[in-house]
Formats: sequence, C-alpha cells, structure tokens
Amino acid sequence: MSLNHIRPWRNIYRRKSRQIMVGNVPVGGDAPITVQTMTNTLTTDVAGTVAQVQAAAEAGADIVRVSVPDEASAKALKDIVRESPVPIVADIHFHYRRGIEAAEAGAACLRINPGNIGDEKRVREVIAAARDHGCSMRIGVNAGSLEKHLLDKYGEPCPDAMVESGLEHIRILQDNDFHEFKISVKASDVFMAAAAYQQLAEATDAPIHLGITEAGGLMSGTIKSAIGLGNLLWMGIGDTIRVSLSADPVEEVKVGYEILKSLGLRHRGVNIISCPSCARQGFDVIKTVEALEKRLEHIKTPMSLSIIGCVVNGPGEALMTDVGFTGGGAGNGMVYLAGKQSHRMDNAQMIDHIVEQVERRAAEIEAETAAQAAE
Ligand code: SF4
Repeated sequence: MSLNHIRPWRNIYRRKSRQIMVGNVPVGGDAPITVQTMTNTLTTDVAGTVAQVQAAAEAGADIVRVSVPDEASAKALKDIVRESPVPIVADIHFHYRRGIEAAEAGAACLRINPGNIGDEKRVREVIAAARDHGCSMRIGVNAGSLEKHLLDKYGEPCPDAMVESGLEHIRILQDNDFHEFKISVKASDVFMAAAAYQQLAEATDAPIHLGITEAGGLMSGTIKSAIGLGNLLWMGIGDTIRVSLSADPVEEVKVGYEILKSLGLRHRGVNIISCPSCARQGFDVIKTVEALEKRLEHIKTPMSLSIIGCVVNGPGEALMTDVGFTGGGAGNGMVYLAGKQSHRMDNAQMIDHIVEQVERRAAEIEAETAAQAAE
C-alpha cells in the first residue's frame, strides 16, 4: 500500500500529457511509465531478433524497438511482430517506403521524423499507412542529427534547436490531423538533454519518450542515465523511457526499472535493500546479495527484502520491508517477516530460506491483489 499521502516528500507530480496507444500499451496520461529497449541483432535474423525481444519482455520491457534499415528488414518485421509478446516499434530513418512497409507489417509504432522523409506527398502516404494500420508514431529528435537549417540558425546543437526541430515535426503531423504521437529530444550530453526535455515539456502535451542517447557502457551509461532520466522523472517529466547502453538489451530494461523503482514510479520484482558491509557483518553480505539477486530474478511481484550485516541498521530497515535478514548471532541471524522479528536462521541455510520466504510472500501478495480485483 502506498503511504505517500502521509509522506508528501516522496510525491512526484507527473506532467499531464495526453495518452496514446503503442499497440495495446498506453503511453502518457495516467498510464504507468513504460520501459523500452531496442534489439541489436540483424532484423533479417528473425529467430535471433525474436529471442532478444522475448528476453527483453521477460525482463519487463513493455515495448521493444527494432531497426528497419531496408526492405528485407521490413519483410522480417512481419514475422517478428507475430512472435513478439510486446508491441514492436519500427525504427525508420529517411526512407518513407520503409515506414509504409513497417506499418503494413504490423509495427505498433513508427519512430520516424516526418520532416526528414521527403515531400508532402510522401509524408501523407506514411501518415495514411500509420492511420490505416492503427500505428502510432514517435518523433525522435537527436542532437547528433539535427536538420541543417537549424544548425545554420543556432550554430551548433543546443536545446532550443532540438525543441524547434521537434515542434516542426509535430506541426507536420498535426497539419495532417494525426495526433497519435510521442516525442523525444535525446542528446548524449546530460545537461543538453535535460534542458531540451524541460523546454519540450512546456511546449507540447504529447507523451514524452525519455532517453540519454549513446550513454556508454553498462556502468558509465547506467550512471549517466540515472542522473539524466532520474532528474527529469523526478520533475514529473517522462511517460516512457529507454536507457541506451552498449550492452545487452536486457541490461537496459533492468536499469530502466531500477531508475523507476528508486523514484517509486514503477515497481517490479524484489527491491533489495542491503548494506555495503563492514567489519561488523555477521555474514558475507556481498556474496549473499549477489546470490539472492540471481535466485530471485523470477519474482515479478513488487516487494522488498532487506539484507543487512548487523544490528546497527538491520532491525530499522527490516521494519519497512516484506522480508528481512539481519546478521548478528554466532553463525546465525534474525529473519523478519512483514517488519516483525520472526525467527533465527543459520547463515549456512539462509539463502535457500530467504528465497522460500520471498516466494511465499510473493504468492500471498498475488493472492491479495487478485482478491481485491475480484471485489
Ligand atoms: S549495517 Fe552493520 S555490517 Fe552493514 S555496513 Fe552498517 S555497520 Fe557494517
């Protein structure tokens, strides 16, 4: 149960955006903030791409984007869409034909900039294909690929130029009476992206897709994304996010969820609260947490687990978690259930025991949620 009504310092007031649909997934409005990723296989490798989409979906991806650089990829997209458990966004650059083919292939959304696909006739054709196939669009402005006239006007990529580019693309869609779109203004520079997104949030009520582009490898990209996206989400900006990492898409999804979880914006799986450990620890905290993270990956129910090395912080943290373990005895520690001391457990059996306790609590939460839904 959320206690935010008595903890106002935890509230985030989300910007009001209008809602669109990406396939069967709502984006914007009061819909949960969705997590996206993108495949990095050859799209023509249908089996490989489907496997990656499925792994991402299993990790919690709500929407997955697939690049469509050529006609063969557009053909493959049809099979990928058929096998995918989540809506597929087709990533299109410049080629209006690919946009039409992707819409026909069943893409739920086209990532396409209408100002970059040629004359008005071509734009109208792509919009008509999207409309005919129930496909939404994402305008994806990127600081690295701004239009020449904006670079001439502003001298270099900057937030003003990015937002102006975004608004120009929006105008084209609106002039064609097409409103099922979301928009992003990505940059690899955290300051530029944050400033651009803030301006964009003022300038449109379209749902906003957040991303720090080309953020880097797993470690550095995670930190950069957490700072950039975290800052914007904290301000209430953002309806869907993609963390861009030079890493497995599954890692992008995990990082996306961790960012949302740490702001209380989305909950999925076990939120492990653990101490860094020190000489006081009653068991090996680091190894235990590593093992538990792996053993508990299958739990999707939102819940919390505290793993704390000693009684300095253990009992206090356990008060606020579903399941807790605090080291302290000679070779054993205290298990807490629903914030209360429950029983002692040997360190040697503790990992198996905690996995059991978490699974049991997850099943209880699922049953409670189902009963509430049935009322
Ligand atoms: S909770 Fe105890 S073991 Fe963990 S870091 Fe703090 S003092 Fe050290």
